[in-house]
Amino acid sequence: MRKLTPMQIYMLLPKTNCGECGFPTCLAFAFNVASGKANVFACPYLSDEAKRKLSEALAPPIKLVTIGVGSEAIKIGGERVIHRHEDKFYNPTAIAFAISDLLSEEELRKQIAAIENTKLERLEEILKPDLIALKGSSENPERFAKAVETILETTSLPIILCSFNPKVMEEGLKLCGSKRPLIYAATKDNLESMAKLAIEYDCPLAIYEPGRLESLAELVKKARNMGVKDLVLDVGFNDLRETLEKLVLLRHLAIGEEKREYGYPTITFPSLATTESDALADFWEVTVATSFMIRYASIIVLNSIKPWRILPLLILRQGIFRDPRIHPRVKPGLYAIGNVNEHSPCLVTSNYALTYFTVKSDIEASKVPSYLLVVDTGGLSVASAFAGGKFTAEKIAEAIEEYKVKEKVKHRTMIIPGLTAKISGKLEELTNWKVIVGPRDSSELRVFLRKISTT
Ligand code: SF4
Repeated sequence: MRKLTPMQIYMLLPKTNCGECGFPTCLAFAFNVASGKANVFACPYLSDEAKRKLSEALAPPIKLVTIGVGSEAIKIGGERVIHRHEDKFYNPTAIAFAISDLLSEEELRKQIAAIENTKLERLEEILKPDLIALKGSSENPERFAKAVETILETTSLPIILCSFNPKVMEEGLKLCGSKRPLIYAATKDNLESMAKLAIEYDCPLAIYEPGRLESLAELVKKARNMGVKDLVLDVGFNDLRETLEKLVLLRHLAIGEEKREYGYPTITFPSLATTESDALADFWEVTVATSFMIRYASIIVLNSIKPWRILPLLILRQGIFRDPRIHPRVKPGLYAIGNVNEHSPCLVTSNYALTYFTVKSDIEASKVPSYLLVVDTGGLSVASAFAGGKFTAEKIAEAIEEYKVKEKVKHRTMIIPGLTAKISGKLEELTNWKVIVGPRDSSELRVFLRKISTT
């Protein structure tokens, strides 16, 4: 991994210790830049020479490429490590759906609506597909342009324009060039024309080379020499194992060996996967897409918009691209679950997101409207927080005051997780509330809450 030491960064700083970067000294700033906690350009006094050297040295080995413009723009690449535990993965795999310009205008609009309506809320994030890939199957420039027009009228999602024919591509680009679509794709036969289009319309360019990686590197060098800066690589797809091996090799060459010609994000087409068994065909595209996502694909293009195919991918992506050093958490506070009133039971839990959502759904399943007091445990689960002294009687007592629980309920009874039974006495002492020890497992809340609501 390409990395500067704090001293190498320090040597390029002005060394005046002015503090304008938010750190008391240039040396402290250099340490924070080196560990990725500060952006080196927060120092307003860098010389041009220092700026050039630092941008070169600190640039991620896999180039960051943006597709689209504005709030819907998608960033891919920008990765710095081979394995997630070395740091984190920065930009999630973008999921695209392929639609064909052979479809009627009505059918195109229907498909786009289906793509836009595919959404899932999980752990306080909206998970959804990112891109539309328009395939120029008609090979007809006018028909392709018409389809581009329909997409632009219907959605603001970024677009991948897919055609190996530069004439077809240019008609599409004339309509949406300023929206920075991804041009897919340059090959050894059309590289010059496609590279010219990428430069003219200032768009990222995908390079398709299913042969040896050395041939791909040659095409990358040619495109770069012509002035194309933002590239995306496609190693093709004949066989799952071969493609996976190439994706892994690309990552190692780019990051491990710092070979710049391989340092670009990748695009894959699991939609090209075929199986001899019709019964398995539906599952195969998802299986292939999952494998590519795990092994570094920056974009995966799918054929089917069926929700059961996309949902597992969205959840997998959320898991892979979360920072492993940060526990998923929700905001501490008092949450009303269901149609609560001043007599509703009040339970307490930790702010680890999975704990919160599990407890919330178990309360909902009980159909007993309840308050859930969420204590700040730094994103740890109840068991871990309790063991680590972060889920204590003192913390719960403070949370009762801070979130004004007494103003919401008339009773003075708190239900604590069964795993934390030991703190019940201390909590009663600190709050003068009656403490009931709830179940050890929240799946038992359904029966537990129904029982106490009828007594
Ligand atoms: Fe040093 Fe620049 Fe920070 Fe000032 S702003 S302390 S010169 S790094």
